[in-house]
Amino acid sequence: MSIHPPDRFTCEEVFARLDDYLDRELTPDELHLVRAHMETCAACAAEYRFEQGVLQGVRQKLQRLAVPDGLMARITARLAAEGGKDAAG
Ligand SMILES: [Zn+2]
Repeated sequence: MSIHPPDRFTCEEVFARLDDYLDRELTPDELHLVRAHMETCAACAAEYRFEQGVLQGVRQKLQRLAVPDGLMARITARLAAEGGKDAAG
């Protein structure tokens, strides 16, 4: 059991807020405390980088799943072109 100054987060407190930190849902005070802690704590900084990497991976997957606007247009155009060729031939 360790008493820590109120202007510092413990690892436990940082871990508990890591998701909110990644989602940028912390208050400015909490944000500052998490940042300050990670500057001096390699374990929490590593955990943050790991979670951020996972989050980015998920976001990239979601972006890949969402069909870009141009792609549907290209597919439609190509189908139309092939359909036209068949009709002509
Ligand atoms: Zn820590």
